[in-house]
Amino acid sequence: MSREQLVVERVRKAFQTGRSRPLEHRVLQLTGLLRFVSERRTEITEAAKRDLGKSEHGTELFETLGLEGEIKLAVEKLAEWAAPRPVEKNLLTISDEVYVQPEPLGVVLIIGAWNYPWAVTLQPLVAAIAAGNAAVIKPSEISSHSARVMEELLSQYLDEDLYPVVTGGVSETQELLKQRFDHIFYTGSSTVGKLVMEAAARHLTPVTLELGGKSPCYIDKDCDITVACRRITWGKFVNCGQTCIAPDYILCEPCIQNMVLEEIKKSIKEFYTDNPKTFEDYGRIVNQRHFKRVMALMEGSTVAVGGDADESQCYIAPTVLKDVTGDSNVMQEEIFGPLLPIITVTGVDEAIRFINEREKPLVVYVFSHNNKLIKRVIAETSSGALLANDCLVHFTVSALPFGGVGNSGMGCYHSRHGFDRLSHLRSCLIKQLKMEGINSMRYPPHTAKKLGWARFFLLKQVNVGRLRRMALLAAAVGLAAFVVQRFLR
Ligand code: NAD
Repeated sequence: MSREQLVVERVRKAFQTGRSRPLEHRVLQLTGLLRFVSERRTEITEAAKRDLGKSEHGTELFETLGLEGEIKLAVEKLAEWAAPRPVEKNLLTISDEVYVQPEPLGVVLIIGAWNYPWAVTLQPLVAAIAAGNAAVIKPSEISSHSARVMEELLSQYLDEDLYPVVTGGVSETQELLKQRFDHIFYTGSSTVGKLVMEAAARHLTPVTLELGGKSPCYIDKDCDITVACRRITWGKFVNCGQTCIAPDYILCEPCIQNMVLEEIKKSIKEFYTDNPKTFEDYGRIVNQRHFKRVMALMEGSTVAVGGDADESQCYIAPTVLKDVTGDSNVMQEEIFGPLLPIITVTGVDEAIRFINEREKPLVVYVFSHNNKLIKRVIAETSSGALLANDCLVHFTVSALPFGGVGNSGMGCYHSRHGFDRLSHLRSCLIKQLKMEGINSMRYPPHTAKKLGWARFFLLKQVNVGRLRRMALLAAAVGLAAFVVQRFLR
């Protein structure tokens, strides 16, 4: 029996004890996770520094702050999220209990990616715990320092049998994927996402796939280009461009290309100084394989800003490429690095066409003063999210579901969306063993008259306040008694 198989068996046994279900246990685990984040801040930031050259404050801002917010929100709202959810009734169920009861799915496999190793691995865990599940946590082997800290320390803060960390590379992940889970929550590339879904299909396991892709950014000429470029520069070069929702490329009219270039250049200098290589808030490419991949993407394009690199340090300067076309190397895959190509288009019509000719992205960004133009881009494109006049920050709005569509993923999470994603929303109907007479309309022999009454009772939606509902109930009971007496006996 493999190590992975043994772990999953142990977790399933722990889940079957039922101890992950009570809300008190969930809150205890969530507060344990919160304690882990605050007490182990040093270990977390050191690991992120070693993996990706992240600065201490950068790690807190982009990795753990959101995580802490998610945990606190889940603790505060858990009772509300987990409570039965009454639903609208029809005339036939007016005196019944009709509600949706969220229940845990069981054992969830969480497979994390390396770019924000803490946020993308532990935020799904918050949802899994809140929803009352057990979970096997598989951090990415590429961010190996973060994975090691997670493996060594998390068990001191969580119920180890319910939430173990399994480390390892592709073969360990593949071994895990052979096991039966009740949900697989995967964050990473679309290529591996397909393998995950294939493996899940063998057990009919549902999946959430948080993938990536090329998120376009259209800059309208009716726009504050200085502010737009500052926000784009921030969104693109944070974490050295290794952000799933980073703007991948810019679309704009030729008449503003030079101004866009100049403004981005100014912002790069403002944020990262003249020498980003020695500036602590500018990160590194995660490893040499990705360094080589990103460098190769630059081939064939004109470097307008930056372009210098140092392989020994996996350093690539913030770089802007101009006069790029849809056929350029850099447009053939998600960049996931600090290259920002500019493609010129004749206007919003061509920008929309360009976007729609490609896979559905995780985000569409649009910068404009013109609200009508923004609404048009919303109406005529499709993506996981749309953000106008800023970058990345939709991620921080916990009420918004976070996830992709089509090639950028399926399913979503954050706050209640994550809770619902990792719950089974069970339909519950509790009827009384009374009023049998009214059921005659569904029992044979079927007649046109009974069908007419069935239409009346089933198709009338009752969508009213409590008082009207009670009045209707009385009327419905009277009507039912009349129908039974007069027609159905
Ligand atoms: P990665 O290489 O770390 O892979 C992710 C996970 O998949 C790891 O845990 C790894 O062990 C596992 N894995 C890799 N190859 C596998 C295989 N052949 N079989 C089974 N498991 C395998 O990360 P990555 O794929 O390079 O991540 C980058 C991608 O993730 C980008 O496309 C990025 O946009 C996307 N991403 C998306 C989000 C999101 O929330 N939507 C967040 C972060 C990253």
